[in-house]
Amino acid sequence: MKLGVLIERDGVLNKVRLQGKQQVSPLTAAEFEINQAAVPLLKKLKAAGVMVIVTTNQPGLSDGRLSRRELDRMHDTLRRGLPLDDIFVCPHAEVDRCPCRKPKPGLLIEAKFKWHLDMDRSFVISDKWQDAEAARAAGCTSVIFQSPWVGSAHHDFLLPNLKAAVDKILQLCVPASPSAIRACA
Ligand SMILES: [Zn+2]
Repeated sequence: MKLGVLIERDGVLNKVRLQGKQQVSPLTAAEFEINQAAVPLLKKLKAAGVMVIVTTNQPGLSDGRLSRRELDRMHDTLRRGLPLDDIFVCPHAEVDRCPCRKPKPGLLIEAKFKWHLDMDRSFVISDKWQDAEAARAAGCTSVIFQSPWVGSAHHDFLLPNLKAAVDKILQLCVPASPSAIRACA
């Protein structure tokens, strides 16, 4: 069984526009821009032997604002820029009442079965309460970092930023004692 780190996409791995207090996901590949600060951090996770997996709600696919072709092009960019093992997408809108739109845990459960993840030892990284709630329902540890979208749902760790979140996971899964160093997986 492998250990996975399941990471929210928008606002964590790529930049988003803000409209009032709402994050607006990019709708074209041209406006898709990787958050460069995430690159060395994800490389550190990969080097520790964990699987690095993206999960994302993209309701624009359901209501027609986002085409599958543009999304595929964005994810080609994401895979080229970051050491990712997989990307799981919920294409539904809230009205579809699907089991995969976060805060529901469907995407995490799908990743668990596809990659044989040990959820007890796996982590979710995000800046949003929806991911913390999905992590709780799927049985993995949520490592959330500060944002206006943290909310008041249960989370296991709340840290100042993405770097602190990644460092926390590395600290939890790799014992500090030099004689006991082993990879997470
Ligand atoms: Zn869905």
